[in-house]
Amino acid sequence: MSNITRRHFLTITAGTAAASMVGFPFIAQAAKKQVVVIGGGSGGAIAAKYLRMADPTIEVTIVEQNKHYYTCFMSNEVLSGERTIDH
Ligand SMILES: Cc1cc2nc3c(=O)[nH]c(=O)nc-3n(C[C@H](O)[C@H](O)[C@H](O)COP(=O)(O)OP(=O)(O)OC[C@H]3O[C@@H](n4cnc5c(N)ncnc54)[C@H](O)[C@@H]3O)c2cc1C
Repeated sequence: MSNITRRHFLTITAGTAAASMVGFPFIAQAAKKQVVVIGGGSGGAIAAKYLRMADPTIEVTIVEQNKHYYTCFMSNEVLSGERTIDH
């Protein structure tokens, strides 16, 4: 099993991508800014939203494996009958 955490992976890949652009400033400036967010949970959705708010020219794509997202937030209230799973 790999010891690389998601945080480590993102640090390495973002650093590599930024470093690779240094030698090609014209390509970097002309390139359309695109971000792919893997996972449309609360973390992915918030990251995508704030990327677009920070720079509306960035094309943000969320890749989510499931058709529906069931948040864990307040799921205890489903168990206790105060909310339905549809809520
Ligand atoms: C029972 C329970 C109750 C909780 N209650 C609360 C609460 O009341 N308040 C609170 O603040 N937090 C609560 N949490 C914590 C909260 O749910 C998590 O912190 C939060 O959901 C994490 O968000 P995330 O986007 O990182 O991960 P997730 O919400 O798990 O989202 C990850 C998404 O990525 C998708 N995904 C994964 N792999 C791939 C792939 N390879 N390709 C495409 N999509 C992929 C998954 O389908 C999923 O939709 C609770 C957690 C649990 C388990």
